[in-house]
Amino acid sequence: MKLLYLKRTCQNRCPRCGKGKVLKDIFSRRDFCNVCEFEFNRENGFFLGGIPVSYTLICTFWIVPWLIAYFFGWATVLMTIICSILGSVAFTYLGYAYCQCLWLGLYFCFANNEMPVLDSTAENE
Ligand SMILES: [Zn+2]
Repeated sequence: MKLLYLKRTCQNRCPRCGKGKVLKDIFSRRDFCNVCEFEFNRENGFFLGGIPVSYTLICTFWIVPWLIAYFFGWATVLMTIICSILGSVAFTYLGYAYCQCLWLGLYFCFANNEMPVLDSTAENE
C-alpha cells in the first residue's frame, strides 16, 4: 500500500509524477496528466468509484453530525432532514470531481503494481 498516491491526489496532483493537476476546475477532471502524460482513466466506468467516496464523505462529515445534533436535542427533526438533504445535494454537486480524484489515489494505493513507471526508457524494456 502506497499512501503517497493518495497524498498526491488529496492535493489535486497526478498520482504518478506529483506535479500535474488532476482537476481542471471544481467541476471537471483532465483525462491526461499535463506533465507526464499519464492517462487517469484506467477503464470504462473507472471513475464511478468516485460515487462511494462521495457517499462516504457526505455520510461521515454531514449526515452523521446532523443526526448527532438531533439526538442531543440541538436540532429539530425538520431542520435535520432539510439540512441533510440540501447539504448532500450541494456536496455531491460541488465535490464529485474531487471525489473522483480521491478515488484515483485510493485505487493506486491498493493497486500500486499497476502504476506505470515514470522513466520512459524503462517502459520500453
Ligand atoms: Zn503526472
